[in-house]
Amino acid sequence: MGQTGIAAYAADENRSAGRRYPEPKPTYRGEYQRDRDRIIHSTGFRRLVYKTQVFVNHEGDLYRTRLTHSLEVSQIGRSVASALALNEPLTEAICLAHDLGHTPFGHAGQDTLNECMRDYGGFEHNLQSLRVVDKLEAKYADFPGLNLMFETREGILKHCSKRNAKGLGDVGERFLAREQPGLEAQIADIADAIAYNNHDVDDGLRAGLISLEQLQEQKLFATQYQAVHGAYPGLEDRRLIYEIIRRMIGTVVTDLIETTQSNIADAKPRSIEDVRKAGRPLVALSAEIHEQHLALKRFLALHLYSHERKLEMTKRAQAIVRELFEIYMTDTGRMPAEFADRAKPRDAAGRARVVADYVAGMTDRFAISEHERLLRES
Ligand code: MG
Repeated sequence: MGQTGIAAYAADENRSAGRRYPEPKPTYRGEYQRDRDRIIHSTGFRRLVYKTQVFVNHEGDLYRTRLTHSLEVSQIGRSVASALALNEPLTEAICLAHDLGHTPFGHAGQDTLNECMRDYGGFEHNLQSLRVVDKLEAKYADFPGLNLMFETREGILKHCSKRNAKGLGDVGERFLAREQPGLEAQIADIADAIAYNNHDVDDGLRAGLISLEQLQEQKLFATQYQAVHGAYPGLEDRRLIYEIIRRMIGTVVTDLIETTQSNIADAKPRSIEDVRKAGRPLVALSAEIHEQHLALKRFLALHLYSHERKLEMTKRAQAIVRELFEIYMTDTGRMPAEFADRAKPRDAAGRARVVADYVAGMTDRFAISEHERLLRES
């Protein structure tokens, strides 16, 4: 029998491709709820609190960290999944896990680690998120990793090069067959972008790196600015900004739900297999809101992520990641025993992968202090 309360084309735990290591069904919760709970109890999840989203953790207490970002992504994802009668616990699990593979220092860290790994197969944070839940979390007596359901793993691996997909077995197949993931995974993907577009406006304004004036050129922002400013002309900036942002999120989320409903009505999927073979993602924004959403994303890339004050941090972060990688590659014995022992018998590419796993798992502040300690001792 199928799961009740969800659409026929939702991911259904009774028709799931299951876990890599078969386990008895949980008694008082669903399979995807168990996945979510395992993710929350993982070490990688706790580390997200000290990992950079955009602002390095010590730059201020009010900025998003990768943990609060993941919680906001999950909130948006759950709302959309529930409105569309899809599998909410699965959506939540994917959203909470989507950034587990991120390095310290955000994209600066990830790009640098990818350069360091150029001759050894590269580094992709999406693929790393999957490695974390499949292999690196060592907690359970009966299996490596968290042994998550196929649909959760499929959603975590949102992008993947064809070269890497070939070595991944079941979760890699859709990249080779050019198929879509389930709707819950599609939601998690776009919920990520909706969350950061909006919270980065808030953080960017708080940091003084972007201004209300600049944002007036953004249609998504300007529309809500005029509405709120018109209705509440004397509102102080903090409340004005928050009111605009909540309305922006509301606009995009409503558009996402309605556009997706209409895509589903057109495509008439009867099962998750139909969703996978639909030829395009059914979870989507309308053309107009999509364009506004992308324009805001481009604006943030230009004015916030590459702001000169951010670039200083970026340079320092790149140097720390590169030097940590080089130090451990030269002497793998400087890593803790569990990593050093794994690295020892391997060839250069194998050692580099263990070093990348260790460095990627670091929080910002651990990377900074470890870097200082190693330089002092060398
Ligand atoms: Mg994210």
